[in-house]
Amino acid sequence: MNPDVTIVMYHYVRDYQNTKYPDIKGMDVRTFEKQVQYLKNNYNVISMDELVDAIQNGASIDEHSAVLTFDDAYSDHYLYVYPILKKYGVKGAFYVPTGILQDKKVLDVNKIHYILASASHETILQELMLLLDRYRDMYNLETIENYFEKYAHANRWDPEEIIFIKRMLQKGLDQEVRMKITDELFQKFVGQPEEEFSKELYLSTEQILEMQNNGMHFGPHTHDHVWLDSLMKEVQKDQMKKSLHYLKEIGVNLDRWTMCYPYGGYNEDTLTLMEEMGCSAAVTVEPKKFRLNDVNKFELPRLDCNDIEW
Ligand SMILES: [Zn+2]
Repeated sequence: MNPDVTIVMYHYVRDYQNTKYPDIKGMDVRTFEKQVQYLKNNYNVISMDELVDAIQNGASIDEHSAVLTFDDAYSDHYLYVYPILKKYGVKGAFYVPTGILQDKKVLDVNKIHYILASASHETILQELMLLLDRYRDMYNLETIENYFEKYAHANRWDPEEIIFIKRMLQKGLDQEVRMKITDELFQKFVGQPEEEFSKELYLSTEQILEMQNNGMHFGPHTHDHVWLDSLMKEVQKDQMKKSLHYLKEIGVNLDRWTMCYPYGGYNEDTLTLMEEMGCSAAVTVEPKKFRLNDVNKFELPRLDCNDIEW
């Protein structure tokens, strides 16, 4: 038997009728509940542990299985997701970029979301251009026109200004100046101290343990939410060791841990590392369902919750 499995990926799930940031892109909690009902009615929703058991030990799972996964350890997952999963008897898998919890920081990728949700794109773009001018000599930056040419390409979700801002702050600039500019934009437009914001945005260790005690699965998402495929093997290993160490320290059960690659980024070194470090399975962002026996357990595809047909 070779059952088909759908792993579903969620990020922000929140109450959009009561939020300071309606422009943060995510799923409303009411839609989420309906989707869970739909999945329960149309799939055999199983836990990550059951999937791992099927992969490692050949335990049988039903045709048309689904596993729900949640990235980035948002407090949303405790406030909105967890009560619904409990209500429907579903066990989800949650992936934690541990550095943010340890250092009370906010991920750059989240800073970018909140900057974009806090002002008009014209205003942010203007400020970004001012900052590029300010740091041009110090960091040997290119002209605005050059950057625009390289990065301002609209896609199916966003117009060119937004893509430009995102690309510049994600990868377009070198790390040091990129972090500096991102922090300045975050302070200007979001205006909340990073430590305080981090506490509100992410799960606390108490919340993680409570969820684990009620059947939820937790795994590493690297320490600093890095693109693993851009790093040397030793640096990747360091990211994994730190992340696992932190999870172990706070009491997460790592007997059969699974991994989630940030941005879906991994390479051959990553796959070797997963084997060496005793990982049970790992999820990517390759958007498709799969047949249990036809996949590499360290390259499990995953569909975004918005791409599920329902
Ligand atoms: Zn992530």
